[in-house]
This record gives sequence, structure tokens and C-alpha cells, in this order.
Amino acid sequence: MKKIVCLSFFLLAVPMFLDAQTSSTAKSAATLPYSPSLDVSSMDRSIDPCVDLYTFSCGGWQKKNPIPPDQTSWSVYAKLYQDNLMFLRSMLEEAAKPTPDRNSVTQKIGDFYSACIDETAVEKRGASPIRPELDAIAHVTSTKDLVPVLARLQFTYFRYSYSSSMMFAAGSSQDPDDSEQVIADLDQGGLGMPDRDYYTKDDAKSKETREHYVQHVENVFKLIGETPDAAKKDADTVMRLETAMATASMTRVERRDPHKLGHKMKLADLAQLAPNFDWAAYYREMKYPEFTVLNVDAPAYIKELNTLLGSESIENWKTYLRFHVADISSPFLSPPFVQENFEFYRKYLRGAKEMEPRWKRCVRYVDYDLSEALGQVYVAKVFSPELKASTLDMVRRIEDAMAERIRALDWMSPETKQQALTKLAGIRNKIGYPDKWRDYSSVKIDPKDFAGNVERTHQFESRRDINKIGKPVDHGEWDISAPTVDAYYNSQMNDINFPAGLLQPPVYDPKMDDAPNYGDTGGTIGHELTHGFDDEGSQFDAKGNLKDWWTKQDREKFDARTKCVADQYSSYIAVEDVHVNGELTLGENVADLGGEILAYMAWKDATKDKHLEPIDKLTPEQRFFVGFAQWDCANERPEDLRVRAITDPHSPARYRINGVVVNMPEYKQAFSCKDGQPMVAPAEKACRVW
Ligand SMILES: [Zn+2]
Repeated sequence: MKKIVCLSFFLLAVPMFLDAQTSSTAKSAATLPYSPSLDVSSMDRSIDPCVDLYTFSCGGWQKKNPIPPDQTSWSVYAKLYQDNLMFLRSMLEEAAKPTPDRNSVTQKIGDFYSACIDETAVEKRGASPIRPELDAIAHVTSTKDLVPVLARLQFTYFRYSYSSSMMFAAGSSQDPDDSEQVIADLDQGGLGMPDRDYYTKDDAKSKETREHYVQHVENVFKLIGETPDAAKKDADTVMRLETAMATASMTRVERRDPHKLGHKMKLADLAQLAPNFDWAAYYREMKYPEFTVLNVDAPAYIKELNTLLGSESIENWKTYLRFHVADISSPFLSPPFVQENFEFYRKYLRGAKEMEPRWKRCVRYVDYDLSEALGQVYVAKVFSPELKASTLDMVRRIEDAMAERIRALDWMSPETKQQALTKLAGIRNKIGYPDKWRDYSSVKIDPKDFAGNVERTHQFESRRDINKIGKPVDHGEWDISAPTVDAYYNSQMNDINFPAGLLQPPVYDPKMDDAPNYGDTGGTIGHELTHGFDDEGSQFDAKGNLKDWWTKQDREKFDARTKCVADQYSSYIAVEDVHVNGELTLGENVADLGGEILAYMAWKDATKDKHLEPIDKLTPEQRFFVGFAQWDCANERPEDLRVRAITDPHSPARYRINGVVVNMPEYKQAFSCKDGQPMVAPAEKACRVW
């Protein structure tokens, strides 16, 4: 199991469905542009803030910022990331020049970018980069032969993630009972659509999506040279296999319960659970370090996979693998593959109108595949020690507010409070970038071999991941890159992580007064801290072990309070006929609410000796809340909202703002709202967890 919760979703959703390319319109940026953290021109003051804070704060932004045709949604964070991409592009274009003053780091990122941007070379190669893999699959004649071929494919084509794998996901993970140790981990996976629900739901839209998916699979088969008849038959086979796999897969809501993911067993037990697959041979082939115990997140899935291995012919499995190799590699192959990938994953599923220009895709690949080489060059240009110090100061103030808040809770017993305070004190704060950068010197990067570079970087990451098994955990490791505009909490590490890419205007703005900065970044810090205490994070202790530190009564009271939040968000409409899933989004909603309460307390404390005046006809308290709301100004496509209602643990932007303040008396007071107005929840419905 890997238990990471992020502030935002759009970036993490990217790698699997990366698209492409064609023309380049945007200019490179030598410096990052400045936008203030509170921008009155982004507001719509014709709206009553007691009716709708979100539109009051973001109505102007929404009008000024239509969704670009190459994007599936648009937001303050997405825009900031786009600014980062343009800045990184200028860095990469510089690094791509084969000058003698390049060092080994700039050579790697520059050559990777050069190879990617050369579309003519990519086009000439067609599907040839995956021919060796397709040939290897063709030579398989038995389940025994399948093992080494699958091992090679998994090693080359995926990162450890259950949402982008073949047959199953495997790699390393922290031991759920001893977070200091890294053990082998085995999970469900292997689906081509973004969630198991797409295969199992019966509504008209889900049926339509399945028809489009089967067509996509058929198109991919044709691209690798199959006849129309064979492609059609093979697409049906893939769909049938994946539907059986999906039916046996756990839902996202089930996966939010860490106890449902912890099943440690011996290798011999795994062999008994799924005897139709030679696990020992598989692990030998993947060159895993010797191990005796592994965690199997989803045993029911592995059991079903075993049944399918017995009942489906080897030819059907070869068909399944052929599709997945081509589908996963499509973004790195010639334009027809890229186009087909775009048509289904970005255009049909998520509503994008155009492909992203090639440069943008290439910058993202460098950020994904050589993340810490790129990050190293990036932070040297944008991140100062002063910025790190001021962020740390804010983090400490929010942590102090949390301690104070825990001590003052009227529903929690002193015993549980003591445990909560211990957990809070155990949280590690990681700001900006890793202390030690990853060393890529062993990875060969060739300025003329894009697909090869992608394969070699993926193999490097697979090896790095597997080699952690049996070793103590590295607490310095980061799960997202330094230029990423996002933040996360990892419950097994018990750490909060704020990359350099996030800590810049308009999100964090050293030029602006405290109120909007606390409302925005203070709220983000509070959000990540609260994740340690949401319905999921609260099951892990200060060391990151899955261990109950609650009294029974306190847990019951806590559950009643989180249920209030689940019910509140379940009543919201995500898009058309689709409701927000209050269970799926519970952890994020609890974190949003707790984060803002903490930020408000910390801001009040930080400014208690200052005399604050209104600015732009907004009182300091109003500036706090408008600053908060403006972190998530967004325009969202209905298609994208539909995908996210199934896959994204975060609520749509509007509810991440309005859903929080309806529960805060501080907000009611700041805008002198009256009982009964939409931004004031009736007393019996107001939720407060932390
Ligand atoms: Zn979060």
C-alpha cells in the first residue's frame, strides 16, 4: 500500500493519459510571471458573499480565464503549473544546446528534451520501438513462458501504481506494521480505463464509455498491424478479460480503508493463493532482493486473476498484453499512436478540444522521468533560503494552532488528546526540495532516441523501487517533483511536503499582507496537517504504523463528526445527474475544513499585535476568506467533472470553498451573514471535526 494524499489532483492524473503535440504557440519564459495572491479583479462583487463566496471571489477570474482548448480543466494551480512549464522549457532549450559548459545533470535533461522534441525522428520510427516486446509476446506458448515476458514488460513500462499496470501492480512499500522497513508489495491493476467502475456500472453513460473504449482498443490493434477482423475480435477479448479483472477489484472507497489493504503473507502463501502463476520465477526474473514476507493489498483480485489464468487461453493473455504494451507506449510512438491516445483518454473521456503542443508534453516527460535532475536546476533558479525560512515559520504557526485546537476539543478525552499531540509532534516538515538529489549517472540518455530514453528511465525507477526492499525507509525521499504545483501528506512517513513549484505567487506571495497568504497557503499547510487526522490518516500513529491510538468512545464521536461531512458533500451535485461521492472525498473535505480553521487561528495569533486596516474595501477577515477562495478559482469541463466524480478524492472547486465556509462561524461574522443564508449552515447541520 502507498498512502499519499495530495492537495490537488490534476497533476497526478497526468502521466497515464499524457497527450501531445503539433504546433507551438506559447513563448518560453526566462522568468516566472507575477500574479498577486489576492486579486480584486478576479472577484465578482455583484454577487452576495453570504450567498456564494466562490463566485464572489472567483467570478472575474472565471470570465477572464476560459479553459484553453488543450486542457481538460483550468484553475489557479493549472495556470501556475503552465507558467512553470514555460519557465522549464526555456531552461531545457538552454540545456539542449551541446555546449562544453554543460554538466552531467544539464546534459541528461537537455538530451532527453532534444530527443523528445524531434518529432520527425519519432515519426520515422513508427511502432518500431515496441517491436521487440511484441515479438517476445508472440513467442509465448505457455503460462510458464508468460512469466519472464510479463516481468520484462512491467519492468519497462510502468511505475508502481495500480492505475497504470499490466495484470497486476508490484513493487516496494512500507511495512504497514513497521513503517521503518520496506517490503515487497502486490496490488490489483491492469485496467485500461481509469477505474473499475467504468466496467461494472449499468447506466447509459457507462455503457457508452465502454463502447468507445472497445473502439479505442480495436484502433490500437489496427495501428500495430492487425486486420480489421482480428482487431475487432481481439478488442472483445481485452474487454472481457478486463471486465472480469475489474469486477474482482476493490473500489476506491474500499481502498480508503487501510485495514482492507494490509494482508501480509509469505511467498508460499501467495503461491497457494494463486498457484497458476509462478511467483518465485517472477520475482527471480525481476531480480527482487531475497524476501520472505510481502503485503498483498487485494487478495480477492489476485485470486480472480489466478482463476482467469486457468480459464483463459494463453492466446487471450497474449492479446491482452499486446494491447497494453501499445497503449501504454502510445505517447512515445509516432503521431497516429499519439492521436489515438488523445482521442480516447483526453478528448472523449475528459473533454479536451486539442492536443497539447509537443514542447509542453516533452517538458512534462522530463519532469516525470528525470524529476530530480530537472528539479535540481529549477530550484537553483527559483527557490531562496528566505522563502524556505518564511514557509517553515508559517508551518510552525499552523502546527501550534493545531496543538492548541487539539487541547481545546470538547469531544475528545485527555488520553486520546495526548496521543494526537504525540502524532502531531512526530510530523516531519519537508519544504521546497529533497536534501539529497537522486543520482541519474547510471542512466544513458541519447539525444536521438526518445523511446529508448523513456524505457531506460523507467527501468531505472523500477530498479530503484525494487532495491528498496529489505532496507530501512529513506525519510528524505519525495513522491512528487520540485516544480510540481501541489502538496501532499504521506501517512506511513507521517510527513508533509511542499514543493518549490507551489511556493510562489499567486499561491504564496511574500509581497502581499498576511491575511490572504494565511487564507491560501496557511490553509494548504493546515489541510496537509489535518490529513494526518482525517478518517484515513487517523488510523496511523506518529511513526506511520497502522495502529489504533483512540479510545473506543472517542473514535465513535469522531466517526459521527466525519459522517456529518460525508452527508454534507453527498448532497452536492458534481455534474448533471452525478452527485459528489461523500465517502470517496471524505478525507479531503475533512482536511479542507480543518485546514482553514487552523489557518484562521494561526493568522489571528500571528497578527495579534498588529493594527490591520481594510484594503480595497475588504476587512482583514474578508481578505483572509477571499484569499482562501482564490486558491481554487477554476473552470471545469463537464466531461472532466464526470471522470473526477469517479476517480478524484477531491470535491469540485466550488464545494472545496463554499462547503468549508458554511461550517465556519468566523466566516458568518466576517461578512455579517444572517442565519438562513446559503453560506451559513443551520446549527444542527454545521460540521466541525478538528
Ligand atoms: Zn488533500
